Amino acid sequence: MSYTPTRSDFDHYMAPNYSPQKVIPVRGEGSHLWDQEGHEYIDFAGGIAVNSLGHCHPVLVDALKAQADKLWHLSNVYTNEPALKLAKSLVERTFADKVFMCSSGGEANEAALKLARRYAHDRFGEHKDKIISFRQSFHGRTFFTVSVGGQPKYSQGFGPVPGGILHAEFNDLDSVRALVGDDTCAIMVEPMQGEGGIVPATPEFLEGLRELCDEHQALLIFDEVQTGVGRTGKFFAYMHYGVTPDILTSAKSLGGGFPVGAMLTTDKVAPSLAIGTHGSTYGGNALASAVALAAIEHIDTPEVLEGVQKRHELFREHLESINRKYGVFREIRGMGLLIGAQMAPEYEGRAKDILPLAIEEGLMALIAGPNVLRMAPSLVIPEADIHEGMARLERAIAKLVATA
Ligand SMILES: *Cc1c(COP(=O)(O)O)cnc(C)c1O
Repeated sequence: MSYTPTRSDFDHYMAPNYSPQKVIPVRGEGSHLWDQEGHEYIDFAGGIAVNSLGHCHPVLVDALKAQADKLWHLSNVYTNEPALKLAKSLVERTFADKVFMCSSGGEANEAALKLARRYAHDRFGEHKDKIISFRQSFHGRTFFTVSVGGQPKYSQGFGPVPGGILHAEFNDLDSVRALVGDDTCAIMVEPMQGEGGIVPATPEFLEGLRELCDEHQALLIFDEVQTGVGRTGKFFAYMHYGVTPDILTSAKSLGGGFPVGAMLTTDKVAPSLAIGTHGSTYGGNALASAVALAAIEHIDTPEVLEGVQKRHELFREHLESINRKYGVFREIRGMGLLIGAQMAPEYEGRAKDILPLAIEEGLMALIAGPNVLRMAPSLVIPEADIHEGMARLERAIAKLVATA
């Protein structure tokens, strides 16, 4: 007997920590999705910056199918070829010398923070344990990463939070100078805040953080879970700034939709992650690694990366043209294909109201906080889909304005 799940099953059977849209997509191809009723949608959400090559890209499907017939999982009692190829490929493309693999962004950040603490402990002693991060930042939902994140609403109400964590203001070096000292073990920052509203760091800010870290023998950690793997038009966002971290974390786009995460670091820092200090059952899983390798080899090419920049311009032009007609946005910002449109004061807090209106018009989009409409589409979204998606967004905005 076949059974077709419905949206009300969500309320019956799923833990209530999410509130998904009413439609249930069942199939995807490129930047299009279809729901149970056969309605078609253009996808500007990209699974929250995850579906870097859209849905069911042949390069990823082929890699998955080929690996599926060979070997899925071994545990870290053995190593495997796809994981070794992925690690080598990441090292060759970045500042890093060593890679730790896991299955999500939160886990990659958990590893980064534990490594930073351990490194400071090994080299300098117990007292050097302070982690500085930023208000409005987001680093994951494990208890350590959510406490380092700068949105207290996500970490409060779960009992005592881990200690030694300080929050400064993003893009404000003086606020960091007020907190940094010889007891600082690491500064963790997103080169562009994602969940916090699509806010790029200024070059002076990241350069200043690098200097402060060097001055105080602290490690600089870049959380590139959302900005990495081509999202901003370079392989990693740090490459725009010419500021090199000691530790970098990646997930989301890295697997193109397959759960995978990685923490990258240098030969100087890596030894503190000695045998037995940390681990993950699924880390370096062969299926995940095979898909991630295919994703990065396809993305880290001039065609794809230059295409991201071109598409950025198209998104901007369309959003500006919508804004000339309706005046709903205060600012359009972002890098590459991580784009935010901040709502004008008259529409304060109403970004989320656009999402169901967009669904009615056949468009999937995102928000980043209450005031920012966010788009994180496939890095290879066809131009025709951008034009059509923007026509649909314009109709959704027209409805928002009509009901204001
Ligand atoms: C999404 C995100 C995370 C958390 O990743 P998960 O895979 O959900 O654990 C961490 N940092 C940033 C910047 C993110 O955008």
